Amino acid sequence: MKYKHLFGPVMSRRLGVSLGVDLVPYKYCPLNCVYCEVQSTTNLSVQREEFFVTKEIIDELDSFLQNKPQLDYITFSGAGEPTLNSGLGQIVSYIKENYPAYKLALLTNGVLFNDPRVRKEVMGCDIVLPSLDAASQAVFQKINRPHSALNLDVIIEGLVKFRREYMGKIWLEVFLIPGINDGETELCAMRDAIRQINPDLVQLNSLDRPGTEAWVKPLSLSAIKQVRRFFSSSLPMPVEVIAKVKYNTQANRMDEEVINLLHNTLKRRPSTAEDLSAMLDIHINEVGKVLRQLHLEGRVQVKREKRGVFYTWKE
Ligand code: SF4
Repeated sequence: MKYKHLFGPVMSRRLGVSLGVDLVPYKYCPLNCVYCEVQSTTNLSVQREEFFVTKEIIDELDSFLQNKPQLDYITFSGAGEPTLNSGLGQIVSYIKENYPAYKLALLTNGVLFNDPRVRKEVMGCDIVLPSLDAASQAVFQKINRPHSALNLDVIIEGLVKFRREYMGKIWLEVFLIPGINDGETELCAMRDAIRQINPDLVQLNSLDRPGTEAWVKPLSLSAIKQVRRFFSSSLPMPVEVIAKVKYNTQANRMDEEVINLLHNTLKRRPSTAEDLSAMLDIHINEVGKVLRQLHLEGRVQVKREKRGVFYTWKE
């Protein structure tokens, strides 16, 4: 069966072997983050919709899971915001009822959690990984460029409510951008917001593949570690830096085929992640994940052009 909504399994840095489930059309998102690795948001929306017939997604899951593949997680993620799909709750319940051995993860920007229906629909997930990159509306506007209906205080309130109701694990990701959200005032406000949200773990991240905007630069590892020390000294939960790991043997094996395809294409002509995804018929997130690793390892060269970020294979 050719899958439209499933991708991978991929070796995820945070979740291990993960089968991706993409629930929304390309770049439907309530945010347009400056660091987004899958280009600008084309449909800035807070409107929840079914987008696809839910049964179509369930059929793909049935087809894939019938062989009982070994997975650490089935993960709702993609090139957009999964909670925008109003069929999410039905899909979560279906997997939990029919495939109880599998654990469910949700990668989300968390901006719709003030909606009680969204909180209820994701209760069946084993782990939810929301992000929070700002604690003031001004920095939220600068980094996440939200839909006009969104207010950061309401979003934080939604995450606080979710924490009170939800028994699973919450790992909160904070994306750091030098000069924007790494100053003392914003970090102190962020610490206070995180204390209220009370996740099980805080994960710090910064740019490791070119984002949507050229001005976004990575925060140095020593500066990220400084932020970690600051949060760790005043927050009760563990705070860690998302590891920029080299490929391990398992990840290498899993991605070997994709690496070969990218190698064959990129040695002939520079391409964007989106070009590669369309040409090779591989989900954009899978292409992005492998490109990130290849970039970290210095195996591809990056050049920003008018049409986007182009990758070339370094011989
Ligand atoms: S990083 Fe995530 S939340 Fe931000 S624009 Fe991209 S898909 Fe949306």
